[in-house]
Amino acid sequence: MGCGTRSELKKLVKQGAIEVNGTRVKDSGLQVDPGADRITVNGDEVRYREFVYLLLNKPQGVVSATEDNRDRTVIDLLGEEYAPFEIFPVGRLDKDTEGLLLLTNDGKLAHNLLSPRKHVPKTYFAHVEGMVGESDRQAFAAGVEFDDGYTTLPAELRILSAGTAGETPMSHIELTIHEGKFHQVKRMFQAVGKRVVYLKRIAMGPLVLDPRLGLGEYRELSEAELSLLK
Ligand code: URA
Repeated sequence: MGCGTRSELKKLVKQGAIEVNGTRVKDSGLQVDPGADRITVNGDEVRYREFVYLLLNKPQGVVSATEDNRDRTVIDLLGEEYAPFEIFPVGRLDKDTEGLLLLTNDGKLAHNLLSPRKHVPKTYFAHVEGMVGESDRQAFAAGVEFDDGYTTLPAELRILSAGTAGETPMSHIELTIHEGKFHQVKRMFQAVGKRVVYLKRIAMGPLVLDPRLGLGEYRELSEAELSLLK
C-alpha cells in the first residue's frame, strides 16, 4: 500500500501506530481486506492502489531510465512515498530534452501508448538554428529520410517564429510526430540541414504539459486525464 516495508510495518504495529476499523492492531499477522477495511497509520487513512500515474516535467541532465551508473534518473526525482511502486518512464526523452514524461507502473497502459501501431501523437517545442521555413514544413509533411535510409511518417510542423538573417538565426517551432524513433526530432531537422538546440515535449496523446509544474516537478494524473488515456 506504499506505507513501508514489512519490517517497517512490524515496527509501526509494535508502536501501536496502526488501526483497522478503529481498533489498534496488536498482531502484525492480522489479515485485512484492503478493499473493505479502513486502515490508518498514525491516524492517516491509507488506501490500497495497484497503479500510480505521474506527470513529470523532466529537466535537462537526468536520464529516462530506472537505474543508471553515471547519471541521475527520472526515478531519483520522486519522493520516497513512491519507492514501493515499481515506477518506470513511458518511453524516453534525451538527457538534454525537457518536458512531459509519464511515469507509471502500469505496464499495459505503457505498452499501448508506446505501440508503434497506435501512432500516439507527441508534440515538441524547439529552438532550431537557422531559418525554418515552408519547405521544411512540406518536407516533414511528406516524410524525410534519415541517414540510415528510414523515411519518417508525415509530421506537422508549425513555425512560431522564423529567425531573421542575423549572426545566428534561430527559429521557434512546434512539431507533432506520430512515432518515436531514437532522437527523432533532432534527426528530422538534421535531415533538412538544421540543428535543434533546445527541445521540450509539450504533449503526448491526450496529455499536455501542466504549466504549473516547474522543471523536475511532478503530480499524479487527474481522473479525467487517466480516463482519456484508457
Ligand atoms: N526527439 C529527440 O530528438 N529527442 C527527444 O528527446 C525526443 C524526441
